[in-house]
Amino acid sequence: MKVVVDRSKCTGLGICESLAPAFFEVDESGDLLVLKEDIEPGELAEIEEAVAGCPTEALKIEH
Ligand code: SF4
Repeated sequence: MKVVVDRSKCTGLGICESLAPAFFEVDESGDLLVLKEDIEPGELAEIEEAVAGCPTEALKIEH
């Protein structure tokens, strides 16, 4: 599984970063960096929270 960002929807607010800091970082210009894409089984809950928490529905999990 991996996490995918729809850049056309992402507004760079960084809620995903606070929920899943191992995966996401918003840089000083407001661009989202995906630190890693591959999701280990133990990380699924964290990523699901970030997907649910993203206000613009820019994140999804690909199986
Ligand atoms: S929470 Fe959503 S909109 Fe905000 S930075 Fe993360 S992916 Fe982008």
